[in-house]
Amino acid sequence: QFPFGRRLPCDIYWHGVSFHDNNIFSGQVNKFPGMMETVRKITLSRAMRTMQDLFPLEYNFYPRSWILPEELSLFVAEVRMMKDSNPSWKPTFIVKPDGGCQGDGIYLIKDPSDIRLTGSIQSRPAVVQEYICKPLLMDKLKFDIRLYVLLKSLEPLEIYIAKDGLSRFCTEPYQEPTLKNLHQVFMHLTNYSLNIHSGNFIHSDSVNTGSKRTFSSILCRLSSRGADVKKLWSDIISLVIKTIIALTPELKVYYQSDIPAGKPGPTCFQILGFDILLMKNLKPMLLEVNANPSMRIEHEQELSPGVFENVPSPVDEEVKVAVIRDTLRLVDPQKKKRKDTHVTVPPKRQWLGVHEHRGLWEVSPRQAVDEMSSKVPPKPTPSGILCCRCRSLEQVREASEELPDALKSPEAALPSLCLKQVFPKYAKQFSYLRLVDRVAALFIRFLGVKGTTKLGPTGFRTFIRNCKLSNSNFSMAAVDILYIDITRRWNSMGIDKESGMCLQAFVEAFFCLARKKYKSLPLHEQVSSLIEFCECRLAALHGKRLVWGCG
Ligand code: ADP
Repeated sequence: QFPFGRRLPCDIYWHGVSFHDNNIFSGQVNKFPGMMETVRKITLSRAMRTMQDLFPLEYNFYPRSWILPEELSLFVAEVRMMKDSNPSWKPTFIVKPDGGCQGDGIYLIKDPSDIRLTGSIQSRPAVVQEYICKPLLMDKLKFDIRLYVLLKSLEPLEIYIAKDGLSRFCTEPYQEPTLKNLHQVFMHLTNYSLNIHSGNFIHSDSVNTGSKRTFSSILCRLSSRGADVKKLWSDIISLVIKTIIALTPELKVYYQSDIPAGKPGPTCFQILGFDILLMKNLKPMLLEVNANPSMRIEHEQELSPGVFENVPSPVDEEVKVAVIRDTLRLVDPQKKKRKDTHVTVPPKRQWLGVHEHRGLWEVSPRQAVDEMSSKVPPKPTPSGILCCRCRSLEQVREASEELPDALKSPEAALPSLCLKQVFPKYAKQFSYLRLVDRVAALFIRFLGVKGTTKLGPTGFRTFIRNCKLSNSNFSMAAVDILYIDITRRWNSMGIDKESGMCLQAFVEAFFCLARKKYKSLPLHEQVSSLIEFCECRLAALHGKRLVWGCG
């Protein structure tokens, strides 16, 4: 901690809230510039909508959402249309103020006309979302999952997911929403900060009982009921990767603006909190992404009326300590040095993992492939794939003595990583979704002035000219009109006062050009065809410039 200012550069900067610090020229910061803005409810909903427009099936894990107040009439019209086409549809919606957290200002409605448009809190911009009426219940209670995800790098994209998370329980038995129970927050909202005030909240010393449990304990119960836990994990991994793919274009714009390429600057990483709800059929649905998930490992206990004390929370400790410890291990600047002197070790010794507080499991690399599900009680197989010798820490220290010198580091005696790499590991399966990333690369290329996040009219014209998108049917005057129309509308919605075209406005303009040029194709093919067209034109132009330069 540097309460009086920093004197020397650090290897790792651990900021409390956001990236902002103008004096960092090296090392690694635990926050990305613009992350807080990018995961706000409205921005997240917009990014997900863009992806849903392009890939509706792949992005059906995010509830249908509308942005208030700007899409109020669209919301009313769409709901009316859906009700007309299916009279038995009796939906419920959840209204969430933008930038809110801990359930602040959230309420449920049955009809669009119930939206509260007056009053200070209620008139804040908000997202209204289809309410998931049939969540998976445990002990008759609704619960959600908080998973920790490490975004280790943006370029190249590197994502890790923690093998365990938290499950936060409601404190009143769940009933499907009716006009009578809509206001019962302890029944419908899983927020810890709300339910802690219910008389039914149970602080537990154990990780598999009480109102906050480990996610692995839930998986354990599901597995014992015969649920396909491996499929569930694979769906969650895919939800996380797809969500981050939706967020990266915006993050890249902020990144180049705060840390311009070619200048000395730090690199960034960030721990994100993913809030996920399981539906009755075990389908995971994304509720939101938190840029600053709470890392508290204590909770308040009321000793006597009005007298509170902080006491350790074993469930939080179990999950969060491992996340922070392993994030630091992954970004450890010394690690690369050690890697350089790495000696190959026999496979059996490569995987040492602490299993809860009970001792160490020694696992073969093959078993490690299944590690995500291995928090569900590891079943020793007759073939001995999982070698189940439980050993004390002391024994591990002894074992590490036998290791080659390169592994005699503190790292060798640590438990195996709780963070599992999922990207680039599964990059092949998901790379076709990264279309908006390529649109953002074009946008950044034409931004011109370093430090900006908005494209001026000249930048937009240069983009059109260099990509040869203007022709007799689409004059430069029409280009200017397109720029003005879209930019004006986006700027009237935003809180950002910087003038010019933001990334989302550019994406809208790009989709519009793609529709014009490739009329009959599905949207994602129109967009990818236009991206390829632009990339080719720009590569050709670059080639020509090189030749002219030589000449
Ligand atoms: P906050 O940031 O204020 O916690 P969330 O989006 O996480 O806002 O919503 C708060 C709680 O409301 C969630 O933890 C969840 O229990 C419930 N919730 C949110 N969205 C939905 C939804 N679409 N369907 C069902 N429950 C939801």
